[in-house]
Amino acid sequence: EQQATRERAGAAQARDLAERDVRTIVHPHSVIGEPAEPLVLDRGEGALVWDVRGRSYIDGTCGLWQCPVGHGRRELADAAAEQIAKLEFYSSFGDYSNEPSIKLAEKLLELAPAGLRRVFFTNGGSEGNETAIKLARLAQHHAGHPERTIVLARSAGYHGMGGGSLAATGIDRLREGYGPLVPGIEFLGKPHAVAGDPGTADRLIAELEERIESIGPERIAAFIGEPVLGVGGMVPPPDGYWPRVQEVLRRHGILLIVDEIVTAFGRTGHWFASERYGIEPDMIVTAKGLSSGYIPMGAVLIGQRVLDLAEGAAFLHGFTYNGHPVGAAVALANIEILRRENLLERATTLGTRLLDALRPLEELDHVLEVRGVGLMLGIEFTGGDTSGVQAGARAEGVIVRASGTSIVLSPPLVITEEQVDTLARVLKEQVRAAH
Ligand code: PLP
Repeated sequence: EQQATRERAGAAQARDLAERDVRTIVHPHSVIGEPAEPLVLDRGEGALVWDVRGRSYIDGTCGLWQCPVGHGRRELADAAAEQIAKLEFYSSFGDYSNEPSIKLAEKLLELAPAGLRRVFFTNGGSEGNETAIKLARLAQHHAGHPERTIVLARSAGYHGMGGGSLAATGIDRLREGYGPLVPGIEFLGKPHAVAGDPGTADRLIAELEERIESIGPERIAAFIGEPVLGVGGMVPPPDGYWPRVQEVLRRHGILLIVDEIVTAFGRTGHWFASERYGIEPDMIVTAKGLSSGYIPMGAVLIGQRVLDLAEGAAFLHGFTYNGHPVGAAVALANIEILRRENLLERATTLGTRLLDALRPLEELDHVLEVRGVGLMLGIEFTGGDTSGVQAGARAEGVIVRASGTSIVLSPPLVITEEQVDTLARVLKEQVRAAH
């Protein structure tokens, strides 16, 4: 009786909040004037979240990939609260600084691949890519190459929603309707070896060389790419791809910006996916897993070559909340949890378990490929929309994300074996039913 009363009250509260949401909020990635009924979430713990009705969901996506240490970590709440009580914020423009930012910069440079020397803090991924693109252009300009402004990017790559970061995003549906975007971005083919096609890297490298030749290397500032495509469907790179890209870029004096907004902090079993794929970036842009999303936080790691080119240049760039001490305090505590709980290793072990469980879906006619690295996995359909799978799984208490023709997965690294198995079972049922 009591249980039934609680459920009725929960349902009434959920309806009330949903109606008020629809009357007041425009959600990111929503249709204006046609709001979807929201799932109003209330709390989280580990790999589980609960809605206001009290229903639990296995979080198969970490929201938008941001939560390697899982939900509900008191330690991160405490780190934020202590810093807010001590010094909530002070701008880091010019010569102001704070201790958490300094400690975090040291920690990031210790964990990052060799050659990265300085950190520029941001509030998130798009801001980081805006920063990296501007800094690459400024560095070339300052070093006496003002004609080096073009940025090479890849089809199906996602780099954010700002002027430059959207301009560098190679997904047509996201670019339509906004008028002219930042000029000077040139797109190359999607880095995807379908069914492991061994010739893919050769073709991509030949295309890169030809395009550099036709544009003229003296006009190109930088290349931007994700080590593993995220929004583009969780696509690991073709074998041998990255070291070869890097060799070509170096030969032509083109800077390499590696977008690790999704791939860093354990997702692929390493602190940075650059390490896994043998990349020596001139800049790494990261966010999301840096603070596990407990508070917005991002960083651009800057390499020696960029510093050399830009030495003495006035970098008149920055956003109010860059170098936020609360974000830095949370990020430090988050990195400590990842280390203490060996979550990088866990991503590899559980990623293999999940991939093995999902692989049999490749036998279905409507499934093109099941793929992944660490806890970054994708199931690509041969065509059509995958949002029915997302909706079906949610009704069964599992959150997955439809991204174009793919379903993408990136659960918290703390997900249990049992939760992995449930996630796989529910998802397989939904994919099988989705002809
Ligand atoms: N780059 C990649 C690879 C991303 O996946 C995202 C966001 O999903 C971004 C950039 C943009 O980051 P943000 O949404 O924090 O601005």
